[in-house]
Amino acid sequence: KKVLFSGMQATGTLTLGNYLGALKNWVTLSDEYECFYSVVDLHSITVRQNPAELRKRARNLLTLYIAAGLNPEKNCIYYQSHVSGHAELSWILNCFTYMGELNRMTQFKDKSAKHADNINAGLFTYPVLMAADILLYQADVVPVGIDQMQHLEITRDIAQRFNGIYGDVFTIPEAYIGKSGAKIMSLQNPDKKMSKSDENPNASVYLMDDPDTVMRKFKRAVTDSEGCICYREEQPGIKNLLDIYCACNGLTPEQAVKEFDGRGYGELKMAVGEAVVSVLKPVQDRFAELSKDKAYIDGIIKENAEKANYYATKTLRKVQKKVGFPERV
Ligand code: ATP
Ligand code: MG
Repeated sequence: KKVLFSGMQATGTLTLGNYLGALKNWVTLSDEYECFYSVVDLHSITVRQNPAELRKRARNLLTLYIAAGLNPEKNCIYYQSHVSGHAELSWILNCFTYMGELNRMTQFKDKSAKHADNINAGLFTYPVLMAADILLYQADVVPVGIDQMQHLEITRDIAQRFNGIYGDVFTIPEAYIGKSGAKIMSLQNPDKKMSKSDENPNASVYLMDDPDTVMRKFKRAVTDSEGCICYREEQPGIKNLLDIYCACNGLTPEQAVKEFDGRGYGELKMAVGEAVVSVLKPVQDRFAELSKDKAYIDGIIKENAEKANYYATKTLRKVQKKVGFPERV
């Protein structure tokens, strides 16, 4: 079986963007690949976190992976911080990554503008840790949203550079971007991606939002004054609503546009809201159920950390040998 790796940060609560852009595809691919799904808590501390909150969010996120439909018996669902190989490989790869490459990363630019008081080295080398996450498991495929494409490209560059020096050590991973939902935009500013760390709660639909909240957020969604339900760049608000609708219902934009032909923005917003509510409901119900079963989740955490460690260590030992670290005796 080919290998799949992906992860999410335990910053904030998951949004509809995370779900439609990533998690939903994870579930679709989970039978076909040998999967590693990580709660990437090492990445989370690149911005300041409240420790108790972070711990709670990480646990909720891991539970949510299962609630969304991943199978913890088959897929490896674990905390990044429980597998020390991520940090160890990341250090080695740091020495094979150029400052100039990292300087070009748009996420670093965005996040350092947002956290100007804390532009730490971890924020800068974030893509190297992400490369380590992926390469550690020799992943063939990495399902992500469009915003992570640049990080995936640098991962491939680092892997190729390393292989060029030491021979075939790493599998070169490919990105997997879903057909729809790959970039869900903020409901309040459709020029910006929906993000779980957005301060404006109306900008994002959260996976745990109740139906009334979801409907209210869609009613308030920023659109335009064109009065036309068309799928085009000039109408980013409407385009985003159509994208969400398509991702929920498995439609193409053409089909959706046809369905709303001659109808108003109000009707579109209602329909999108309802589609989202019915996608979220089963995930929320399952989450509530799973959260009650502490022993079950604890068991998954323990077993899967061991499994992840086993595969991670295999790659790490190979890499350590290649770069010339002394053998363990
Ligand atoms: P943060 O603001 O803390 O970076 P985030 O919402 O960007 O939060 P991440 O944990 O960085 O979430 O990303 C998790 C996954 O969700 C990645 O695969 C990313 O590509 C995807 N993703 C994030 N935002 C969107 C979005 N708006 N549309 C589609 N996919 C998204
Ligand atoms: Mg992000």
